[in-house]
Amino acid sequence: MDTDATDSMQAAFAAISARIDAAARAAGRGETASLLAVGKTKPAAAIRALAGLGQRAFGENYVQEALAKQSATGDLDLEWHMIGPLQSNKCRDVARHFDWLQTLDRAKLIDLLARHRPAERPPLNVLIQVNIDDETSKSGCAPDSVPELAGLIATRSALRLRGLMAIPAPERDFARRREAFARMRGLFDELAAADARIDTLSMGMSEDFELAIAEGATMVRIGSALFGARHRE
Ligand SMILES: *Cc1c(COP(=O)(O)O)cnc(C)c1O
Repeated sequence: MDTDATDSMQAAFAAISARIDAAARAAGRGETASLLAVGKTKPAAAIRALAGLGQRAFGENYVQEALAKQSATGDLDLEWHMIGPLQSNKCRDVARHFDWLQTLDRAKLIDLLARHRPAERPPLNVLIQVNIDDETSKSGCAPDSVPELAGLIATRSALRLRGLMAIPAPERDFARRREAFARMRGLFDELAAADARIDTLSMGMSEDFELAIAEGATMVRIGSALFGARHRE
């Protein structure tokens, strides 16, 4: 990456980090929300540059693209989150090469992931993806399926349930988005009441992360506001 690109990334990283901290403080939170840097379509050099500024957690949507970036940054100690829809035939790669899966949304994946998680690695951290309001999306489970999926995950020592993730419908009306975030918070609180190890509510992206934090997000997933606009999806 050239110097200008690195400088503008540094400015964006500082600005986003400050906005996350301010939103968490405004919400009266003891701890700030954590930042997941979403690098889809961006080169390994961009991941490396952001890692050089102190960012450790990176999210990717496509397994093949992620594996290439992981091997190009293998000298760095990074934490990788799969945040794209997961097909059964990719469970093996995810179980082997990721630290977190944020998009578990059906029972069938649980057995495949557990079976392929290497015994020498710590359990795969898992978030259940909930389809909270997006009728056009096929990703995410129904809100009332959360307890059943959580129960199944709990039976597998290779997996560790950490919480919930959502991608609300991209409503122009931010009051609607806020309602979706608030409903997620309700589901999260119910789950956390039953299990003290539940600590992660992943919601909020470049456009709406402050709203998500106001409604209880503990992790926000940010791509374009950090890395610049994407030219392809
Ligand atoms: C692309 C993506 C993001 C980041 O989106 P931005 O609007 O670029 O911040 C977050 N979460 C998921 C699941 C994504 O696919």
